[in-house]
Amino acid sequence: MSFTIAIDGPAAAGKGTVARRLADHFGFAHLDTGLLYRATGRRTLDGTDAIEAAQALTAEDLKADNLRTPEVAQAASRIAAVPEVRQALIDFQRAFARRAGGAVLDGRDIGTVICPDAEVKLFITASDTVRAQRRHAELTGNGHDVTLEDVLEDLRQRDARDSARATAPLKPADDAVQLDTSLMSIDQAIEAALDTVRKRMG
Ligand code: C5P
Repeated sequence: MSFTIAIDGPAAAGKGTVARRLADHFGFAHLDTGLLYRATGRRTLDGTDAIEAAQALTAEDLKADNLRTPEVAQAASRIAAVPEVRQALIDFQRAFARRAGGAVLDGRDIGTVICPDAEVKLFITASDTVRAQRRHAELTGNGHDVTLEDVLEDLRQRDARDSARATAPLKPADDAVQLDTSLMSIDQAIEAALDTVRKRMG
């Protein structure tokens, strides 16, 4: 039996952490859909055409270890505005969402476009300064040499581009439960998300 949890929200709001923990808790599979766009965006940095890169994407590409840089994030957000790129990635995401045993997907358009019939939809936000602080700590912790100002600028640019694009813009589904994690610890955010899922499971 399938059960889909769709998690959307702007960059660095805590979606990934919540998604992984929900998947662990319920024994569901997890897909970070941002990786599909990052892996595609990274290929375009070598000069590959974005649509061809998206159509040729393999599971191996998602395991590359240099997908988390701000440069790749910007490339991802640019190619994510191309309708043919998004189209090339839809079938894989929908099949993943409906796999037997349950799935958690996090991204920007999961509740609105990829899985409009998901059993649970969460839209996770946090203020941009809090998001920038979290992402800055994560990047510097992984050895990246970036300033807080640059991280904030990257998030603002991507959020603006992701929200303004014509195809599958970043926005909450009408029936999404919204969770602002600005003042929450990771554990509090996870507990709130668990609560929402448990209620939907009855
Ligand atoms: O979530 P993450 O920050 O890794 O996503 C990188 C970029 O990929 C986003 O800024 C967005 O442009 C794009 N993306 C998207 N739709 C998704 C997931 C990510 O457009 N479902």
